[in-house]
Amino acid sequence: MTCRELAEILDDFVAGALTEEFCVSIRSHLEICPECLHFVETYQLTIQIGRRLPPAACPEHVIERVRRLLDDQAEP
Ligand SMILES: [Zn+2]
Repeated sequence: MTCRELAEILDDFVAGALTEEFCVSIRSHLEICPECLHFVETYQLTIQIGRRLPPAACPEHVIERVRRLLDDQAEP
């Protein structure tokens, strides 16, 4: 498994949606790749923190700013 492959299936790995075979591949990659290990740990932490927050924790002005950013990016 490469770092790129790991990044692509990380979502499913963290969600526990991967087969045992994939999980074993990921774990063996993490043992030899400190960068990906750090990446996965940060990713899991971010999700945990996100889950702890109430759904409406994002202030309206922040949502508005993100919307505007997305709109800007959507323009050609
Ligand atoms: Zn890696």
